[in-house]
Amino acid sequence: MRVAVVGAGPSGIYAAEHLAADYKVEVDVYDCLPVPFGLVRYGVAPDHYSIRSVRDKLSETFENPLVRFRGNVTIGRDISVEELQKHYDAIVFTYGASLDRALGIPGEDHPMSIAATSFVRWYTGHPDANDFGEMLSHASDVAVIGLGNVAVDVTRILVKPVSELEQTDIPQHVLDALSRSSVRRVHVVGRRGPEHATFTTKELKELGEISGVDVIVDPKDLPDHFTQVTESKIVARNLDVMAQWAKREAHADKSIQFHFYSAPKSMDLDHGVLSVDAMTRDSDGRLVASGIVKEIPSKMVIRSIGYRGEGLPGVPFDEESNVIPSTDSAVVGLPNSYVAGWIKRGPSGIIGTNKKDAVSCINTLVTRSSESSATSKQEIDQLLADRNIDIVDFAGWKKIDAHEKDLGKSRGRERTTVHGREELLQIGLGR
Ligand code: NAP
Repeated sequence: MRVAVVGAGPSGIYAAEHLAADYKVEVDVYDCLPVPFGLVRYGVAPDHYSIRSVRDKLSETFENPLVRFRGNVTIGRDISVEELQKHYDAIVFTYGASLDRALGIPGEDHPMSIAATSFVRWYTGHPDANDFGEMLSHASDVAVIGLGNVAVDVTRILVKPVSELEQTDIPQHVLDALSRSSVRRVHVVGRRGPEHATFTTKELKELGEISGVDVIVDPKDLPDHFTQVTESKIVARNLDVMAQWAKREAHADKSIQFHFYSAPKSMDLDHGVLSVDAMTRDSDGRLVASGIVKEIPSKMVIRSIGYRGEGLPGVPFDEESNVIPSTDSAVVGLPNSYVAGWIKRGPSGIIGTNKKDAVSCINTLVTRSSESSATSKQEIDQLLADRNIDIVDFAGWKKIDAHEKDLGKSRGRERTTVHGREELLQIGLGR
């Protein structure tokens, strides 16, 4: 049996690992980028060393001769899903959720209002990222909207001393831009209260450990008795961390200030203002606008309100929940097709969640498989060669890997991420 996996992030690689190691199935893992690892490379923050090092474990999957990395191939453009179906016994879609979501408020289209998805791409060195260095050099106050782990990552990168990022694999141009940044105050804006935030305690706590940065929490935003508002241990621990911050005196040069119960209403970034509705509870306990509008100083706004999946030509797509519809991981309405990860469940959960999901998806695939009718590897390779598609394989990734380590060493760093698509292709293809 031969299977095509579309998306070389954690879900795709876990699916390939399970297929090859446990069922001895041949797998080709496609990605539109010339490098594997998806959000482990282009989502996890550079200073989260242990999570980024998952890459080394994922990389072992490609050492199995049954698994091939097929980088720099865009499914739906270079080859259609229909064609893939002819060449493989099954397809597994694991291409994640890479789009941002909009707030739908006036002023949001201002160039200084950007999506966290774009900002994360920039600081992780994604080849298609915009450059935000210039913007940061003009923004003393930045508002980050959202109370999730991505908002926490973005906030930390905005204020962390550059000396503490030097040891990471952050791209050199990003490190240089951060050293020129004017950001002094980050305003973390949430429409609900601290007990509704989705960040995890370990990530939240890190904000209070950044040298030279105060974290400001208004004690009035914290409930009096945590146990009365939550049975969740995570929420109780988060509240505990914030209660400690609420007691601290602020005197540092830089600050992170939480603005809870503040629903974004409009932004006028030419005049450096984000307006929010101060929220209050009505007689039924529901959060409603109080009628008071507060202004938060912001030269730049980063909207961190979640990721969104997109459809792929020839594959059913649920436009409401932005996922590929499935039953037991089998795509509804497309034979021999399966789905796992964020494009199946939506953008939530940690890397481990995707492993479990990929394994259950592959178990369904294997149970439903029949006799193989796939073509040979050579046929699909020839088809792509005839279309002049330059494929970066795993040997190509190893060249990029070695290059990044050498580049890092030359600057006294362990690794420096290469960000330009052309440069990645030149190295990966040995041009
Ligand atoms: P998230 O956890 O879903 O947080 C999204 C935030 O946006 C919520 O606070 C939500 O508030 C807010 N929001 C949504 N619509 C809004 C609106 N119209 N106005 C104001 N606020 C709005 O998503 P995420 O932070 O993008 O993270 C995605 C996944 O990646 C999560 O599972 C996360 O844990 C994971 N991740 C993990 C790490 C890590 O472990 N280090 C790092 C990064 C990401 P409401 O609750 O009020 O809707």
